[in-house]
Amino acid sequence: MDIKKIYMDADALLEGHFKLSSGNHSQFYLQSAKVLEDPKTATLLANALALQIRASGLEIDTVCAPALGGLIAGFALAQALDCRYIFAERIEGKMAIRRGFEISKDEKVLMCEDIITTGGSAMEAASVIESLGGKIVGVAALANRGFCKRENSGIATKPNCKLPQDIPFFALADFTFEMYSPEDCPLCKEGSQAIKPGSRGN
Ligand code: ZN
Repeated sequence: MDIKKIYMDADALLEGHFKLSSGNHSQFYLQSAKVLEDPKTATLLANALALQIRASGLEIDTVCAPALGGLIAGFALAQALDCRYIFAERIEGKMAIRRGFEISKDEKVLMCEDIITTGGSAMEAASVIESLGGKIVGVAALANRGFCKRENSGIATKPNCKLPQDIPFFALADFTFEMYSPEDCPLCKEGSQAIKPGSRGN
């Protein structure tokens, strides 16, 4: 399956001058929501991810996604893995488990995102799950931005990766495009202005 082609066909790999949530600038931006707007594609991608996870032999009770980004991918993956699905959400800036979701002791939880950049949000939600007695057994995402080493990929872990090294990280593809600090951004130097994805209808 050519994941990059699927993203491009869905106009989900945007080219321009973007300000990312980290504050860095990039010429490209992945808009996974565009890929997932077709439920059939969401199912297709989740099935491919589930196949990888099943092949690893990892035991999973529950998939947990951090809202909003991971919600659709998480649901589709839980469906493909035939397991429970819950989500974490940010309340006044802090990740929380609400909605009456309960975590039993040593419940095996797989964190799921649409895209893993450094894995910060996933790990923030993971620490809440662990504080409630759950056990994080792995991380999964449709796309990997290339800062963390995933299973079956030669990419090395970069220092800013926040995922723990002792649990597996599954993703369908690496999207390793350059990011620049605003001071060093060649696009800024050319005189264009970085836009925040989502702020102008993208
Ligand atoms: Zn820039």
